[in-house]
Amino acid sequence: MSFGRKLFQVWCDLKDNELYIDLYHEDRKVVFLERRLKEIPIALKELVSDGGRALDAKEARRAEIAELEASARRQERELELQRTQLERLTKRQKQVTSVEAMEAGERDISRLAESIEEIELDVLGKLESLEVMARQDQLRQPGEESDSEDLGRESRDLKQELQECERELVAANAARDQLINQLGERECRRYQRFFKGFGNTVLAALNHEACGFCGEKMPPQQAMDVRTGGAIASCQGCGRLVIQVKE
Ligand SMILES: [Zn+2]
Repeated sequence: MSFGRKLFQVWCDLKDNELYIDLYHEDRKVVFLERRLKEIPIALKELVSDGGRALDAKEARRAEIAELEASARRQERELELQRTQLERLTKRQKQVTSVEAMEAGERDISRLAESIEEIELDVLGKLESLEVMARQDQLRQPGEESDSEDLGRESRDLKQELQECERELVAANAARDQLINQLGERECRRYQRFFKGFGNTVLAALNHEACGFCGEKMPPQQAMDVRTGGAIASCQGCGRLVIQVKE
């Protein structure tokens, strides 16, 4: 998009320039609010999935603990049965009358004793794991609680900001419309035409002799007109309207 210098060089007198300055600020506000309104829902979605992942990990750990406990309980019942059987075998061994029966009984007893020892070791290992996990949970809990509190607070803050942004955007757009209406019919039409191309960045602030939007350097005389004469000039780089914002 290219606009001739002549056409837009001097649009307004100093009085009108103040309107443009207000319009510039209001536009900037609208741009900022619209950006936040896009960013906040994304940030909220990320928070929800962070929270979900933390909950999933907690749930998986709870399931792991429950499985270990159930398995240890099953093995303890099995141990009881095997110990009873061992007692029975030991008693019977005292009553055997033949060498063969005694040897067979001893084999049974040693097999059973081995199995009992194996299960005991296994149960012991599980109980130790459960103890370690319980200690870890004790240490971790305060941190996790505050993590989820942080998530909750952050999400509340974002939702509040979202509501405020929505309200402020309505107000900024209304203020903007009011300012445009004050521009006068001709300038108002011009502004609206530019608005179709640039949206809320029709106006750019003069920044050290250059367009504050794209950085294109302005011809010295034009920059001077904008800075001192309350003129509005179109940028040769991006075509936006450059005004003097700061004194
Ligand atoms: Zn520019």
